[in-house]
Amino acid sequence: MSSVVDFERVERLASLMREAQSVVALTGAGISVPSGIPDFRSPGTGLWENVNPIEVAHIDAWRADPERFWHFYGNRFQTLEGKEPNGAHRALVALEARGKLDAIITQNIDRLHRRAGSRRLIEVHGSIDTSSCLACGATYPIGEVRRRLEDSDISVPTCDCGEPLKPDVVLFGEWLPQGALEEAYALAAGADVLLCIGSSLEVHPIAQLPSVTRQTGGAVAVITQGATPWDARAAVKLDGDVVAELEALVALL
Ligand code: ZN
Repeated sequence: MSSVVDFERVERLASLMREAQSVVALTGAGISVPSGIPDFRSPGTGLWENVNPIEVAHIDAWRADPERFWHFYGNRFQTLEGKEPNGAHRALVALEARGKLDAIITQNIDRLHRRAGSRRLIEVHGSIDTSSCLACGATYPIGEVRRRLEDSDISVPTCDCGEPLKPDVVLFGEWLPQGALEEAYALAAGADVLLCIGSSLEVHPIAQLPSVTRQTGGAVAVITQGATPWDARAAVKLDGDVVAELEALVALL
């Protein structure tokens, strides 16, 4: 890990973006790490250390044992509480405001892009903003869900109809929302530059988006610490401090 910015590479990326008609960002957990939200794939980050997320955050776990599911997910809500957008989120807001960024496709459920002020945002894994009742279709905002979670004797937030609520995030075992996915593919296909920021590019189907961009003649830039399957094919790879890199990029555009 390095906090030193490779300005030569940032300039190469800026020059690609100056030529581009359409630039789209794809963001993952890495962009929220500077906000104090751990990437659950990183070892030793507490919350996920002693549980298998694929088991506990699975739609079958929610159905079979809402109490156990919400015991875990209530903790997750708490982890996200009070977290603020960081300079990397704000850099993307600045790029969008200057007409240099068309949209953000995010794997994150933490709402930080929206709170930073990004306008065109596709949350392919949903968001913790709301929870819904799968029985009657009612939807509740996060503040109300928290209140019901606290008021419940068994720590399961329930709908007015009595059924347990489910956070409006894509759980393991659930399909991604079709509309959001189609929009993400269309954006990737139309992008002259796809900025992949803080994503290991390993979680499908989002991991296919760089291929979609490349097949339609666009360039892929990887701004992510650590190895990704796209490093060798990327037009630019930045491996340092994501906040410093994106702020340097904004300064050049
Ligand atoms: Zn209901």
